[in-house]
Amino acid sequence: METLVRTRVMSGARPSGRLHLGHLVGVLGNWVALQSEYESYFEIADVHAFTTGFDDPQAIRDNRDELVLDWLAAGIDPNRSTLFLQSSTPEILELHTLLSMIVPLSWLQRVPTFKDQIEALGPEISTYGFLGYPLLQLCDIAVFRASKVPVGKDQLSHLELAREIVRRFNHLYGPTLVEPEAILSDYPAVIGTDGRKMSKSYHNTIDIADDEEATRKKIRASVTDPKKVRRNDPGEPEICPVFALHHLCNDARVPWIRDHCRTGELGCVDCKTELADAMNAWLRPVRERRASFDRATIDRIIADGTERARVVAAATVRDVKRAMKLL
Ligand code: SF4
Repeated sequence: METLVRTRVMSGARPSGRLHLGHLVGVLGNWVALQSEYESYFEIADVHAFTTGFDDPQAIRDNRDELVLDWLAAGIDPNRSTLFLQSSTPEILELHTLLSMIVPLSWLQRVPTFKDQIEALGPEISTYGFLGYPLLQLCDIAVFRASKVPVGKDQLSHLELAREIVRRFNHLYGPTLVEPEAILSDYPAVIGTDGRKMSKSYHNTIDIADDEEATRKKIRASVTDPKKVRRNDPGEPEICPVFALHHLCNDARVPWIRDHCRTGELGCVDCKTELADAMNAWLRPVRERRASFDRATIDRIIADGTERARVVAAATVRDVKRAMKLL
């Protein structure tokens, strides 16, 4: 078995659309911090995307480059982290087949998100692959023998299942795979322009890839305190999404905005203009970084990362097959 030099961390995302501010200050901010401490693997989970998006392969393909561009814009460094494509790493899919032989069906059926998602998305997503996706997730991690996985509290049950499967494999065939541990990473939700949690499904996002005019337009259309109808009406900033977004990118001005909103000295139009200016200034370096990568560079980053990932993955699959007396 190979010797690990640094602790490995593995995480990934489905290419399912452009990323927004919630991702930027949440998961991506966390990844940027992790990559300086750990040997980091970040997966473009395009096979996973088929579990719910199997009827639109072109969207998965189109979103792939956009996802990587958003990662790079946020500061993921392809020289420090390995960015790789799941579908071009056949070792993960091979490991998935091998491990599927020892995973009792009931373990997958009891995953809480299984029933929840079928209820939310409809019975047509109830495929063999959908049932098995927590196992595929484990294979993404196990193939790199990653011992740390950044997860939110809601994903802890998946990780516990992953650990259980690893224990079962190691018990049956001898110590081969590494039990991954959680790096608990819960971030405060970023508020969207309608006052709900920022989410693509609510159409209330400000995206990393938006240009400055699109950002301005979204902020102009944002809801505010509904009781502040006229410019001089006193407002309640704590219930206003514009105020919440000032916290993100204009922190030094927050006390002044709070006070002047409350006294009615600040109008919503001016408050939104200030937010749009601050937001665009804050995002400018991120967007400039995004614009600095062309398609050929993206292709090369994915190809290089996938090649590096496959070397590590192939060693694990060899050990797994040896342990199972298949070699
Ligand atoms: S002044 Fe600003 S913080 Fe106050 S309600 Fe209007 S937009 Fe919101």
